[in-house]
Amino acid sequence: MIPLEDVRAKVLGRVLRLDVIDVPIREALGLVLAEQVIAPDAVPPFPNTAMDGYAVRAADTAGATEESPVRLRVVGDLPAGHAPTVAVGPGEAIRIMTGAPMPDGADAIVIVELTTRDDDGADGGNGVFVQRESEPGRHVRAAGGDLRAGEIVFEPGTVLRPAHIGVLATVDAQTVRVYRPARVGVLSTGDELVESGPLAPGKIRDSNRPMLLSLLAQAGADPVDLGSAKDDEELMTATLDAAISECDVVLTSGGVSVGDYDYVSAALETIAAADPSGASIVEWYQVAIKPAKPLCIATVRGTPVFGLPGNPVSSMVSFELFARPALLAMMGHADPFRPEVIARVEGGLGRRPDGKVHFDRVRVRLDAGRYVVSGVRNQESNALASSAMAEGFAILPDGDGVPDGGDVTVMLIS
Ligand code: AMP
Ligand code: MG
Repeated sequence: MIPLEDVRAKVLGRVLRLDVIDVPIREALGLVLAEQVIAPDAVPPFPNTAMDGYAVRAADTAGATEESPVRLRVVGDLPAGHAPTVAVGPGEAIRIMTGAPMPDGADAIVIVELTTRDDDGADGGNGVFVQRESEPGRHVRAAGGDLRAGEIVFEPGTVLRPAHIGVLATVDAQTVRVYRPARVGVLSTGDELVESGPLAPGKIRDSNRPMLLSLLAQAGADPVDLGSAKDDEELMTATLDAAISECDVVLTSGGVSVGDYDYVSAALETIAAADPSGASIVEWYQVAIKPAKPLCIATVRGTPVFGLPGNPVSSMVSFELFARPALLAMMGHADPFRPEVIARVEGGLGRRPDGKVHFDRVRVRLDAGRYVVSGVRNQESNALASSAMAEGFAILPDGDGVPDGGDVTVMLIS
C-alpha cells in the first residue's frame, strides 16, 4: 500500500494549468481570473447621498434641536439618476434621494427622519425644519470611496464569486480572462450496469456516472457523459482511446480492483504503449485509505485519466481526494483542497488498526459555534444512500478510532 499523500503529490505534480479564455461575466461564476482587473474610473463615480433626506450646508444647521429646529428653504428636488441643476445656497436645502449626486454648495445630508416639512411658513415658500445639527460629510459617500480610478480591483487567481461578478460589472469589465473549465469525460464500466428501468437478474443501476457528472458540475468543470462500457478489454480500449482524444481529463469508475474482469488499467496500458512519444504513464495503486483503496492514475497523450473504484462511496471519496484537487489546480485554483476543521465526535467513530487512514462519512452540525460530527448509519463502501447524508469525511488515522466526545479532523464536502 502507498500513502495517500504520495499519490496525491504524484497526481498534482503532473497536472498542467489549462489555457485561458475570455468569457462574458455572466458565464464566469466559479472560474478563476487569469488577469489583473483595474478600475478605469472611481466607484462611486461622484459624491452622492447615502440616505434619503436634505442636502444642506452643515454650518446652517448649527444649534438645531427638536425643540428649536432650524428652518431652511427647499429649493429643489433631486432623485437618483439625475444631475443637480441648482446649487444649495446659505439657508437653503435640496430634497434628495439615496444615490443622487451631491449638489454644489451642500456638504452634508440631514436624514428625512430628522426633519418636518413646512411648506407654508412665514415666507410662504417651501421649507423644512431640521431637528439636529449636522457636520460636513455626514451621510455623504465620497467619489472613489469603494474604488479609486486606476486601482487594482482583483488579482489573477481570484476565484469569482457572485460579489466579484457584480464588481466586474461596476468597473465595466464585461468580459474577463479566466482559466478554461476542464472538459471532463465520465465513463462507467461493468456488465452489471443499466441506466434505468426494471432490473434483470444480476443488474444494478449506474449511480456513479450521474454522481460524478454532478460533482464535476459543482467543481466548475464541463462534464461530458461518455456512457457505460461493458467489461470487454477491446471495447474499453477503443472507448477510452476516443475519450482521451476528446477530453482534457477522463474519469472512469469500476474495473480497477484485482478481479478477473477489471480491464481499465489494461486498456490504458495498451493505449499508452501505442503513444509514439513514449511519454504516457499508467500506474495502479493500492492507496492506504479506506474506502477507495484501488486507484489507477494515468497520463495518456497528455490527458490525465483517473480510474476510480467502482463502489459508489469509494468513487466519491476517490474523486474528492484525487480528481477534484487535480481539476481545480488545472482550472487555476491556488488552493484546490476542501477545508478541514476540528470537530467533536458524537457517539464515537470506531475502527480497527489496518495500516490505512479511514475516511468515515459524517453528518456535520454546529453546536454553540463548535463543529460536531456523527457517523452515518452504514460506512460500507457500497452504501451510497447513507453517505449521501454526509457533509464531511472524518479523517481517522490508523488505530482504534475516536471515542464519544473526542476530537477529529473533518474534511467538509458541502
Ligand atoms: P468493480 O471495481 O468494477 O469490481 O466494481 C466494484 C463494485 O462497484 C461492484 O459491486 C460494482 O457493481 C459496483 N459498481 C461499479 N460501477 C458502478 C456504477 N457505475 N454504479 C454503481 N455501482 C457500480
Ligand atoms: Mg466492474
